Amino acid sequence: MSAADEANGTLDVIVVGGGIAGLTAAWMLRHRSVLVLEASDRFGGRMRSEPRGEYWLNLGAHLFPGRGSLLDALVAELGLETLSIPGSTTAMEFEGRVFPTRRVEAYPLRLPLSLSERIAFARAGLKLRTAVRRDLDSAARGGRGTERRRAELDRITFAEFLGPLPRRVEGIFRCAARRATAEANEMAASVGIRLFAQVWSGPDSEISLNLRGGTARLPVAMAQQLGAAARTGSTVTAVEVEGGEAVVTYCTGSETVRVSARHVIVAAPAHVARRVVRTISPPVERFLRSVSYGPFLSMAVLTSERDRAPWDDVYALMTPGRSFDMLFNHASCLRRGVRRPGGSLMVYVGGPPARSLMESNDEEVRDVYLRDLYRVYPSLRGHVSETLIHRWDPGNTFRRPGVAAPPAASVTDGSIHFAGDYFAELGNMEAAARSGRAAARAVMDALGSARVPPAAMARPATGWRA
Ligand SMILES: Cc1cc2nc3c(=O)[nH]c(=O)nc-3n(C[C@H](O)[C@H](O)[C@H](O)COP(=O)(O)OP(=O)(O)OC[C@H]3O[C@@H](n4cnc5c(N)ncnc54)[C@H](O)[C@@H]3O)c2cc1C
Repeated sequence: MSAADEANGTLDVIVVGGGIAGLTAAWMLRHRSVLVLEASDRFGGRMRSEPRGEYWLNLGAHLFPGRGSLLDALVAELGLETLSIPGSTTAMEFEGRVFPTRRVEAYPLRLPLSLSERIAFARAGLKLRTAVRRDLDSAARGGRGTERRRAELDRITFAEFLGPLPRRVEGIFRCAARRATAEANEMAASVGIRLFAQVWSGPDSEISLNLRGGTARLPVAMAQQLGAAARTGSTVTAVEVEGGEAVVTYCTGSETVRVSARHVIVAAPAHVARRVVRTISPPVERFLRSVSYGPFLSMAVLTSERDRAPWDDVYALMTPGRSFDMLFNHASCLRRGVRRPGGSLMVYVGGPPARSLMESNDEEVRDVYLRDLYRVYPSLRGHVSETLIHRWDPGNTFRRPGVAAPPAASVTDGSIHFAGDYFAELGNMEAAARSGRAAARAVMDALGSARVPPAAMARPATGWRA
């Protein structure tokens, strides 16, 4: 995009939001005149990591999808590298003891529970496993043959699906469900099942790898390649169609700028999209209004231990009953060969407990989290060299019971296209990137392919038109 293009109002497309959805759309359209407007002072949205020597602090998304995914292709195209994770992704700390178990079906037997708790846990676990297997089979068949069962799972809550459980067992499922930033009694059963399917689907999962150097390297690399066409500190306040052109108003510093283009891709969260887009059709407005988000409160921890640590064999540890729900070890993917000093951990809590802890200041959050971290891993005491806190609101999308499933990938409303992770059952980077790609394809279709599109564009569009 040249300054002249912008000044003459001849842009092909403006992208609102520099998260992975917006950047993927802009990346796919980089052979056109494109401008990305990002409100904050960095690109990546909910992908945030910061380098610390050979480690990195991670605050947002971290688990990348496996081979053959769109993100995998983008990572390779930008010369980056994903790494497999040797540590257990299904470990649990329960009442002061860490169980680095890889086989989740063993938990009802291994945890210190009463007989009735074990039976209830095993029953609920079996029911969930059956539903997850069906979900994965249906995904492998392209989602066919599941309408009746899906409708039922969309109508009830995840808590209703699990049925009544003893208090301690219920606590375990609630803690796991909050990875979707909501309580089990707020989300549709289908969302809870998808969440477990993500974790249990092994190397084919949407979440199975880390990015060497940290998640943020991908959006940063994309933005660098886009150069002047991608701008931070540019908050879009209005998107409207005037005289056949899309006009975007944004604030940068103390300046208000109006710029027009043939198309606009709005890749900001659904509630922002609904607020800024002034010319919006009722079905699209209704869909955007139906999207729910919950918060995450994350703390990244740089550690300074010199020797092997008890968390070395763990990547993801669920911590029911603690101030945080999950602990992640982002150094796991580097633990091959000689054990280097130091490391990087992250903890977070999601949903209503995140919202209430967010009312505390950073120092208080840090104290609460560290107190529990030392209870989980006492040998960590004395080895915390840095902490960093991030309040994510929105943290992730989830669907409430009775809310219709999102349309596939993206929505086109005249010359305005909507993209973002909220087109998925459960927000994730791959879904967001695919959504950005679908919106880019819709723009390409509308503009006509006067110039040769990149290889990744040469597939049929999967979008939905209002
Ligand atoms: C703690 C945490 C852990 C997660 N873990 C994983 C994981 O392991 N794996 C995974 O796949 N996913 C994970 N996710 C989810 C994943 O991060 C998101 O689904 C994905 O990054 C969303 O991308 P997006 O582009 O749709 O939205 P966003 O990343 O939210 O990007 C939207 C962008 O729009 C910008 N914006 C907003 N308003 C305006 C405006 N008015 N003008 C201009 N710009 C605006 C925002 O600043 C933001 O940069 C996690 C999320 C969190 C918070």
